[in-house]
Amino acid sequence: MIPLVDPAADHHIHTRYSDGSAGVREVIESALRKGFRRIAITDHMPLPFKTRYAVSMEAIDAYREEIRRVREDYAHAIEVWMGLEMEFLPGFEPWTEKIAAVGWEHAIGSVHNIFVNGQIGMVNGTRAEFGRLLKGAFDGDIRALCTNYYRHIGRIAASGMFGIVGHLDVLKKHNRDGAYFDETASWYHALVMEALDAVAAASMEVEINLSGYDHPAAAPYPSPWIIAECRRRGIPILLSSDAHRPENIGRNFERMGEILNEISRPEPRRIHASGIR
Ligand SMILES: [Zn+2]
Ligand SMILES: [Zn+2]
Repeated sequence: MIPLVDPAADHHIHTRYSDGSAGVREVIESALRKGFRRIAITDHMPLPFKTRYAVSMEAIDAYREEIRRVREDYAHAIEVWMGLEMEFLPGFEPWTEKIAAVGWEHAIGSVHNIFVNGQIGMVNGTRAEFGRLLKGAFDGDIRALCTNYYRHIGRIAASGMFGIVGHLDVLKKHNRDGAYFDETASWYHALVMEALDAVAAASMEVEINLSGYDHPAAAPYPSPWIIAECRRRGIPILLSSDAHRPENIGRNFERMGEILNEISRPEPRRIHASGIR
């Protein structure tokens, strides 16, 4: 059975506290106008290194306080969860544990950065950044990059710090038409299956992040075949827009119908032995 998803709930929205364009009130009002009954505000957690997107550690209390205060004004009409988009940072576990311990109503665990051989590289930044990571840290070996990425996802699940996996296969952001790898390759399939087993064992949820339709990938995160595998394992799924502007709240939610159609198709997905392009 297909797990039910609530189209009137958006579980991943950014504000000005991190890299979003609007304040908390503006986000809530926009969600209300669009008919949402529940949203999660999920700015990027503070990071122990410089980025262009994280909330600063000094602003975390103000962030929580503002959500708590502003949502009261709308409590009769919309539920607003105090969330955070967190990351698993190998070597910085105490940092992340401290932030997780504050307590969040929606703690997303995402991989944006890969740590390898003392280097940090963004997987979902620009295409140039992805290319630099692939060449610089993995000597051009896309299979090694994917393996490392899904190992990070496995550690997110094993850590017990997060409730939901964010944009599970965002490493395909620049992989349109298999530019870097073939998703039907058996090795890629095996990496995803192993990660999903870890996610299921940790009783985590997986978001269907529909921002991917507006990215070069032009597809949801994760791909429909992965959503079908979540369903097979009984992993709960949630919808999210990953909006960074109020007008993007609920973006592409209408495409859930085509995703559900695709995963309901009876024929099994073919898996190929190789698949590096
Ligand atoms: Zn993210
Ligand atoms: Zn996000």
